[in-house]
Amino acid sequence: MGDLNMDTAQMKKDLESIKKSLREGQAALRDLQCSLLFEAYRKYNTNRSLKYLSRGELAMLPEFIECMIIASRQVGPFLNKHPQASNFNVSSPVGDIVSSVNKHEDYTFSSDMRKRGFSVDGNARGLYDWHDRSIHLQMGATLGHAIHEGVHSFSSFTTEMPVFLSTLGSFLYEGVTQVFTDQVISDHQWDAANHGYQDEVTCAKAFLREFTAIVVANAYFRRQVVPLAEAVARKLKINLDQLRRLKDIQTNGRSGRDLCEKLGYI
Ligand SMILES: [Zn+2]
Repeated sequence: MGDLNMDTAQMKKDLESIKKSLREGQAALRDLQCSLLFEAYRKYNTNRSLKYLSRGELAMLPEFIECMIIASRQVGPFLNKHPQASNFNVSSPVGDIVSSVNKHEDYTFSSDMRKRGFSVDGNARGLYDWHDRSIHLQMGATLGHAIHEGVHSFSSFTTEMPVFLSTLGSFLYEGVTQVFTDQVISDHQWDAANHGYQDEVTCAKAFLREFTAIVVANAYFRRQVVPLAEAVARKLKINLDQLRRLKDIQTNGRSGRDLCEKLGYI
């Protein structure tokens, strides 16, 4: 009996050390892959239209976007247990954040997205569809827009609806997505991204200041949305049910603007 216990203990130790080596090997491989991609895309900048990318560069976009995001000093640390992130996660290769990246003509974009059940706002140049984890971009979209969609892909685990969106509405969801996108871009010393989400970003920045970057990022990337929802409800002196109804109010076909106004941010 004693011997059997010893063997089991040794086997466990061996397994742990194999797992550790695998993780280290995978991290080294990812770093190498990422540095090659950074080299390949260095000739472009944030606001370069995707139509200038070669077929191969377009195909490598999920890998490149993930490298940008996980190597970001400000955003990367929130992804270290994310099922779709390759960092510290042996089973998830680089680029596994989405199933596909699809290009659409600018003028057919909104009708193409309607067929997927989404009504897109005029500022959207792309869309992340969590049902099948696909990214959709207009031909005229930029690398900055692609990174924005990549950030969206980390706001949901597998194929569920992002809880940040369902709890706080589209306005804050887009604003916070753009703030994280801007952080990723500035962490790599790229030019600031052009986008149409000025009001959303104004609201999101005030929201991040008030409820802290950690609490907001935990809700966005790690589904820990309850502490944030409770803090928002407390500040507005309403209950969670009233918060849900408030964020559901539609302005020009989108939810969440009223919540930003009630919070006094816009
Ligand atoms: Zn978006």
